[in-house]
Order: sequence, then C-alpha cells, then structure tokens
Amino acid sequence: MPLLNRRTGTLDRVSSGPRLDDAATILPSSRREGAGSSLRAGLFETCANPGCGSGWLHLLRSRSAPVFEGGWNCSAACTAERLQTAVRRELEGRGSAQDRHRHRVPLGLLMLEKGWISAEQLRHALEVQKAAGAGRLGQWLVTQQGVSEQLVTRALSLQWSCPVLPLEFHDAEAVTPLVPRLFVDAFGALPLRVAAGKLLYLGFEDRLDPVLALAVERMTGLRVESGLVQESLFRPAHQRMLSATFPAVELLEAASEPAVVRALARTVERVRPVESRLVRVHDCLWLRMWRKAQTGPLPDAGSVQDLICTIGLQ
Ligand SMILES: [Zn+2]
Repeated sequence: MPLLNRRTGTLDRVSSGPRLDDAATILPSSRREGAGSSLRAGLFETCANPGCGSGWLHLLRSRSAPVFEGGWNCSAACTAERLQTAVRRELEGRGSAQDRHRHRVPLGLLMLEKGWISAEQLRHALEVQKAAGAGRLGQWLVTQQGVSEQLVTRALSLQWSCPVLPLEFHDAEAVTPLVPRLFVDAFGALPLRVAAGKLLYLGFEDRLDPVLALAVERMTGLRVESGLVQESLFRPAHQRMLSATFPAVELLEAASEPAVVRALARTVERVRPVESRLVRVHDCLWLRMWRKAQTGPLPDAGSVQDLICTIGLQ
C-alpha cells in the first residue's frame, strides 16, 4: 500500500479498503515477511511504520534518514503514516487533564493570611485595580501600597506551589535552542539554564504553563522544573532572550488535520533529519528536526530546525 500511495500521491489508512500490494506480486506474503525480517535484522534497519507494506523492497533504497521519534522510515508514504499517527495522538490530548485549571487561593487573600499585607492595603489595591480596569493585583500592591516585590513573588510561588528561580548567570544565547522564540514570546516562558545535563529551569513571570513545560520536557528529554522569576528581573531578561538568535523555524497554518500531516511529512522528507519529534503546545504542533546527532543536553542551534503548525477551521 505505501508503495502504491507514493506513486499516486494519495494517502489512505492502511487498514481501509482492499489492498493492492506490489510486494505480494513478487513474493508470497508469508515468505515475504520471513525473508524481510531476517534480512532487516542483520544488515538493515526495519521501517518504523507498523503498516509498512514495502517488505524487502525497501532494502533496494539507499535511505538512512529521515528518522522520526527514534524510528527510520523506508519511504515518504511511511513517513506520512507515522506522522498521521503522531498528529492524531497529539490532538487527542487537547483539553485533557494537563490543560485543566487548578483552583488557587486568590493572591490577596493568601498574602493577607500570611500577614504580609493589611486588609486596608488589600482593599485599596483592589479598588485601584478595579478603577484602572487593568493590571495585576500584585503589581498594584507593589506600586500603590509599597509592598515588596519579593513578597509578591513569594506569594505567587505559594499560589502555584513552585519555587522562585534566581536569574544569575542567565545566558540567553546559550538556551535559545531549548524553546522556540514563538513560545518564549506567546507563553511568557524564559528558559534559564540546564543543570547537571538533565534538568532545565524554566521561568515564568506570574503564572506557570504546565502544558508548555510538559512539551519542552518531551521534546528535549530534559526534566523541566518550572518556577517564577521576580517581575523586575524577568522582564529585561525576557526582552534580551527575544532579541537573541534562535534556531531556524517555519510557521504554518494548515486548514485541516490531513493538510498538517502532508506539510509535516513533506518537511521531514525534505530535511531528512537524523531525529525528529512532534509535540503539542496548546493549539500548536511543534515539529523539531535534528540534522546532526546531538552530543550534549543542549541542541546545537545550527543543526536543529523547527516547524510550528496551527490548524484552522476546527
Ligand atoms: Zn516503510
């Protein structure tokens, strides 16, 4: 089926409809499987597409790439089928537990309870916030009521049950290969540093983004520790980060799920990465491709390439 599909340029699910299998005309199916697997187990890799129907024919092709999620694909059709499975997997996760909001104690009440502000200060800050129709309560407490910014950050960290992260030694250029610029910008994330080669500290200004943190964890293979950074330190660092150099990225808006799959598969076939992965970040699908084998915990900015897709017309 994948052989046929590649010629016609269409992509059907392997399980649907009657199959016209090119390989079957050359070898009977039972022998084909046996011969194929023993050959592949020896000199050649096995195609990672469970529905691959090319049998031993793929041995005639000289392809060592592309690799998607640790598995080699023997043909463009197999790449597309594996991406289709991955896209479905990612889109099915939308709106699940990771997106749900947890109930949090309001910041003002938490600070009042701790004795860090008075009822009077809270009342005034809430009034000013209401009159202005903008701004966060924490900001009003700092600017109008003289509450220390450190206390507000500490209260936010209690609210989110996360640490307050320090900003010393932040090297924006060094951490750009970890999170695409679009996500740094849109979701207010600030990759801080990698510790011990396996832990990434990811800073936020006033609220965490567990969906992004999970996506970065799956993509980089690093454990992500999210935390808050004091606002006055966060903002300039975030600005510096946004003007740093990030890996190459392509943005794409596709009209439908099949269109996304086609675009992703085309890109993977064109780039021929030695590894590539797909994760979802909110309404975006993030495909990362490594053109060279990675040697350390930080990807080499020059050899990774991202494709970020959104699907319109849901
Ligand atoms: Zn295949």
